[in-house]
Amino acid sequence: MDSYNSFNVAQQQILEAAKLLNLEDATIELLIQPQREYNFTLHVKMDSGRVKIFKGHRIQYNYARGPAKGGIRFHPDETVDTIRALACWMTWKTAVVDLPLGGAKGGVICDPKNMSERELENLSREYIRAIAPLIGVDKDVPAPDVYTNPQTMAWMMDEYETIVNHHHPGVMTDKPTQIGGTEGRRDATARGGVITVREACKALNIDPTGKFAIQGFGNAGQRAALLHQEIFGGGKLIAVSDSKGAIYNPDGFDAKELVMHKLKTGSVLNFPGSKKIPHNDLLELDVEILYPAALENSISGNNAGKVKAKIICELANGPTTPEADLILNKKGIYVIPDILASAGGVTVSYLEMVQDKYSYFWTEDVVHKHVDEKLTKAFHTVRDAMNEKKVHPRLGAMVVGVARVAEACKLRGWV
Ligand code: GLU
Repeated sequence: MDSYNSFNVAQQQILEAAKLLNLEDATIELLIQPQREYNFTLHVKMDSGRVKIFKGHRIQYNYARGPAKGGIRFHPDETVDTIRALACWMTWKTAVVDLPLGGAKGGVICDPKNMSERELENLSREYIRAIAPLIGVDKDVPAPDVYTNPQTMAWMMDEYETIVNHHHPGVMTDKPTQIGGTEGRRDATARGGVITVREACKALNIDPTGKFAIQGFGNAGQRAALLHQEIFGGGKLIAVSDSKGAIYNPDGFDAKELVMHKLKTGSVLNFPGSKKIPHNDLLELDVEILYPAALENSISGNNAGKVKAKIICELANGPTTPEADLILNKKGIYVIPDILASAGGVTVSYLEMVQDKYSYFWTEDVVHKHVDEKLTKAFHTVRDAMNEKKVHPRLGAMVVGVARVAEACKLRGWV
């Protein structure tokens, strides 16, 4: 991982887009920083009987277009700046897909892999006790992110409803379907990404059934492995990695069996027929499509020159450093940027909020149809902006997102 400060990177991206859009100084000043941020301590009863103090954050970056929206991450390496960056990217992400939502992100600095189920429940409930006055169906709606999941959302929603003494399922998204969740949320991020790959392959005349690799095998990476082959009716998955290591097989993996192996053993390592390779080698393989689905800054100036993929679909948030971006662009690699490629998750979160409001739930097919429409439209809006401004895909997407948020701020009379 590079030593980039993700929030500095996010701010640079805003400035570049603002320049192309000729935004006024006050607008830039408003967009370059979070509107509200909350930092607090959490005291959690651990299994040992002792209390442990954690640091928690919730940052509402911008809510000009609607309630702030974004996940909550439990991770030991989180900092205020990474959460600021992630909240910032959520703002452009919701705008690029044209959802009536703002952007937010939250996090707790903790090591969930070394915590019991009961400790995680205590932590989740305590987090909601800290932010309950700030969130709500029409204010700020959290969702899962790295190392949080529908069970976390169920505890959090329950804690919130206990505090306000009302049913408010729409206060969290990606809940279990039995308690207000939607069909189609679990594979939504990956589905959105694969849809953008489909459109990019059509536009660039690239065969999506060639070789592909996935860096990161959490929820998004696993679902991308399965959906890529399902949607394209093929595609050879030759390498995958997770935090424990990377594996390779030139003949391709059976995605379903690999997912089962990961769920059973907790890692992709030692999958039958696989060869362990150094982590970074995965990014440098000769593939048609590369899905970075891990953490920030994994494609950097150090390895971008060796990337051979034709398309990079950023399922992770912020996986490419600005230096790497320049190198990839020069090499003619088409990077579908995170704020577009990973927008399927929040798109289905929005569909979940709509269904919760109506208390009427759709079938999976209806959800899939809406995601396909929204992501396909967003992909082409971004491509039009790229062609109009003669810029690369990330800047094209930023121009679309920033312009929409700036317009909402102006209409409200904020600037
Ligand atoms: N954590 C996901 C993201 O980064 C989903 C956010 C949401 O649904 O609010 O896009």
